[in-house]
Amino acid sequence: MELQKTLQDNFGLDGFRHPQEEIIRGILDGKDTLVIMPTGKGKSLCYQLPSILLPGVTIVISPLIALMKDQVDALEAKGIPASCINSSISQQEQYAELDRIRVGEVKIVYIAPERFRNKGFLRALDGMNVSLMAIDEAHCLSQWGHDFRPDYLRLGKAVEILGRPTVAALTATATPDVRQDILDTLKLRDPALHISGFARPNLAFNVRSVSNMEAKYGHIEELIQKHQNGIVYCATRKSVERVSDRLHAAQIDHITYHGGLSPEERDTMQNRFIQREVNIAVATNAFGMGIDRPDIRFVAHFEIPGSIEAYYQEAGRAGRDGQPSTCELLFNYADKGVQERFVEGSNPPIEVIQAVYQLLRQKQDNNHEVHMSADEIRDHLGPGTNPMAIHTAISVLMRNHAIDRFDIPGQRRRGTRLLQPDLLPSQLPIDTAALAEKAQRDHAKLNSMLKFAYSRGCHQQWVLDYFGDPEAKACGECNGCTNNPIGDYREPANDEERDTVRKALSGVCRMSRKDWEGNYEPIFGPKRIIQMLVGDPNADSDRFQASSLSTFGLLKAQGETYVRALFNAMEEEGLLAYEKKENFTLLAITQAGLDAMRGFTTFRLSWPQPKVTKKKATLAKPALDHSAPNLNIDGDILEQLKKKRAQLAAIQGNIPPFRIFSNAVLQDLAAIRPQTPEEAMEINGIGEVKARKLFPHFKEILAKG
Ligand code: ADP
Repeated sequence: MELQKTLQDNFGLDGFRHPQEEIIRGILDGKDTLVIMPTGKGKSLCYQLPSILLPGVTIVISPLIALMKDQVDALEAKGIPASCINSSISQQEQYAELDRIRVGEVKIVYIAPERFRNKGFLRALDGMNVSLMAIDEAHCLSQWGHDFRPDYLRLGKAVEILGRPTVAALTATATPDVRQDILDTLKLRDPALHISGFARPNLAFNVRSVSNMEAKYGHIEELIQKHQNGIVYCATRKSVERVSDRLHAAQIDHITYHGGLSPEERDTMQNRFIQREVNIAVATNAFGMGIDRPDIRFVAHFEIPGSIEAYYQEAGRAGRDGQPSTCELLFNYADKGVQERFVEGSNPPIEVIQAVYQLLRQKQDNNHEVHMSADEIRDHLGPGTNPMAIHTAISVLMRNHAIDRFDIPGQRRRGTRLLQPDLLPSQLPIDTAALAEKAQRDHAKLNSMLKFAYSRGCHQQWVLDYFGDPEAKACGECNGCTNNPIGDYREPANDEERDTVRKALSGVCRMSRKDWEGNYEPIFGPKRIIQMLVGDPNADSDRFQASSLSTFGLLKAQGETYVRALFNAMEEEGLLAYEKKENFTLLAITQAGLDAMRGFTTFRLSWPQPKVTKKKATLAKPALDHSAPNLNIDGDILEQLKKKRAQLAAIQGNIPPFRIFSNAVLQDLAAIRPQTPEEAMEINGIGEVKARKLFPHFKEILAKG
């Protein structure tokens, strides 16, 4: 009640948007919170409203200095005493603001992250009554995103110094690895995680397997004919040019856009599209920032992008006006090669970075300057070098303060200056472990993209699951939904199943090696791990006492067959991954698996049939004993059910038939003959999703006779 009133009185708003109220209540209860919501959904209210009700002051960390003043003015206009501290005000003014905070004149203060570099500033904050620290744009602390700001890494320490107030981290970036970085860097305590608002109900995300270029061109022309306004995203400049040639030949007016055009050309192209002079754009991912055209009816990807994040952002440019729109991914497995080269180019081995540096040292003049373009550097290093790798190597050297780049008057290329000319290549202060981790993450992102392209069931739901949005529902519109008569056969976990999966995952961790950074490296194959989990003494060997682990025998009740099937299902969902090492196949836990184990994400699995059939509390029918001969099963109907099951399994992509329904379920169906999905749910092994999506296919057979 009080919240409602505060909302109305101070913000003039009638009601909360979901899930603002829940977030705010958590923060008021002192719960550390991570909020992941798209831009414009109302994250600010989640800390602004609590700032009024909490004692002391709320500190808001924001990198957007230019916007701070506006925000402060807007809050003051609402009668909320606010201020900001950043480099645009003098030292003296900053201390005056700090004094105002200390005496309680300010409820909410915006502080730029770089202020925390200054030890004196930190000392000045010591002892202040800070109730809440809100960290906006929290993804800036992840080194893997585009907006990394080293100052954000200091915030964990700042939280400590401020006496651990409640921490709320907020961002619009919904990727699992960024989320993990936020949790780790800020050391959030048992945080409440709120991910919402990423669904795009008016978009249908179609995936088309396309075997050749002709088929791709055909699809693009069809899309243009049908939808008129749209963007065709291509992975490379070359691909943009090829598609453009085809459209020219078909006399389809369009613009092209890629990094090879001059800034003036790009501006012209972009403006023609924004002003609706032209309705089709063929572009690389350079196109899109700042394209605020709401009536884009289709976005096609001519090749797969390198990550789900990039894909969803680009595809999401369709239908901003809320009208039904189409996103089309033209998928050919071979296109993966282009993205693999990008991953390699973005992650050169340390030897390439050292070679670039060595060349610069050799070519430096008396002022320690080198006037060479990246192409010239590549020519020296040999034609085999990936050109992108040279650019990346230069960036890495700059980030590590080994070199600097500057403009050369009158020339297009830039010069390079060696900042520590005496430093040898072998002495470069480069964190090779971090480089390796980044390479691994980039590969994992590309793999997720491939998994998406091969996924069955609703494509939008798949992406939302990947982001961890618990409200993910099948859209019913995409070709994952419509092509697939039985749709998604995976179901969310009930409490018991979630517990089993978490036990299984912690078993995998126990049987992995934890390195000094806390990463789990696989050392055993699935067989030994499963033996350990079901308490089989064969799990022990001379060199490893699996039976002494706390997870030994944790899944004894579930049995080996079930656990093996569960491992397959977890692998299919990306919670586990097989890794080849020499001649062995080792089982590793993935980042998604770690998230699931820690309870950060929800997941859906194609659950195996449990060994012991669970009794449902609501079960009104007599318990079935499948071994009992007097069960009233019509053999004919059972045969028909099996046939139907085989048909559905084949349509679903030749999945094993038991994934549809087990034999025990078919027997129960034949014996009980349920007529409605609700009645079908009385049978063990038929949950809500299967009752809704699968059962109707069997209904006709059951109604007969
Ligand atoms: P974000 O930080 O998520 O990008 P903002 O906090 O800037 O989003 O909010 C975007 C817009 O939504 C603002 O104009 C804000 O006033 C409005 N808004 C936020 N919460 C509500 C609400 N409960 N009811 C109506 N409008 C709201």
